[in-house]
Amino acid sequence: MAKADSSFTDHSASHYADTLQVFEPVYAWQQTAWQQLTQSAEVGKLPHALLIAGKSGTAKRRFALQLSSWILCQNRQITHACGSCTSCNWIKAGTHPDILHLIPAADSKSQTIRIDEIRENLVPFANQRGSGYRIVYVPEATQINLASANALLKLLEEPPERCQFVMVSDTASQLLPTLISRLQRVDAASPSIDQSITWLESMGKSDALNRLKLSGFSPLKAADLDLEQSMSQLKNALLVWQALRIGQRDPASASVFWAARMSLGEYLAVLDQLLSDTQSLGLALEPVIADLPWDKLDPLPAFEAVTRIQQFIYDNRRLAKQNIAEQNTLDQLHHLLAQS
Ligand SMILES: [Zn+2]
Repeated sequence: MAKADSSFTDHSASHYADTLQVFEPVYAWQQTAWQQLTQSAEVGKLPHALLIAGKSGTAKRRFALQLSSWILCQNRQITHACGSCTSCNWIKAGTHPDILHLIPAADSKSQTIRIDEIRENLVPFANQRGSGYRIVYVPEATQINLASANALLKLLEEPPERCQFVMVSDTASQLLPTLISRLQRVDAASPSIDQSITWLESMGKSDALNRLKLSGFSPLKAADLDLEQSMSQLKNALLVWQALRIGQRDPASASVFWAARMSLGEYLAVLDQLLSDTQSLGLALEPVIADLPWDKLDPLPAFEAVTRIQQFIYDNRRLAKQNIAEQNTLDQLHHLLAQS
């Protein structure tokens, strides 16, 4: 299976500086947080360890780098970093000496930030003496493992002067309690549907509402979405499901069919959408994705059977991320779908 690739999982500095326009004002849904944070910084009251938390696909990392760039900028504007001073040019080049990107080492199979990275990179960086700010940027704070979190606690409790932590997380509820209690949480990330639609339209994207529905209401994902392809995947998943139910297809052939088309994680996301809409229909509610041949799903699967499949998907999400036992998972899933 092809591994899912998304620009949102690229946490490198140059990626964001280049493509996410860190020298422009923040998006509409982030303006309140921007004003609060920059005004606090102006009077020297910015909490030294920030956690920018919220759902994925809402430009939290762009925001984190915009704020970091602004803190370091030598010619700050009210709404953005200038983009042309020495500091901003270093950020553009991805070579700023006063920003440390704390990410898992390239050889980390578990994708966690290990304690030797804290000891060897972070501690010396944080304790440097200099006149300006130093920023420790952590694109995904849940990658900090327990040992690393313990090593960080001292720095978070008694931070060196002008050392600013800017951490981001899509899943802050999974953060270690020791860590979360020492971070100042900033909910900067959730746009309203209207704000998302306005933004998508300003990016020249048609069918903004449908795009949002198909991407879990994350505007960045919605902008990147191939609308036609997503609709056709949902439609195919619905038809294959029905074919399984009436015995037109056997579970193993359905597994082969999907394995050739998308990763397990992508397929589970498609099914998840389909299943939750099926439950809505069962409750006589309007499905989120109205424009599908729902009448083909006949008779409508029982609520309990669908709940069982949803539970199976939930239990196997972690497995899908690790790309383990895909064939077996697909087969089990298709048996459940056939029995629904
Ligand atoms: Zn600047």
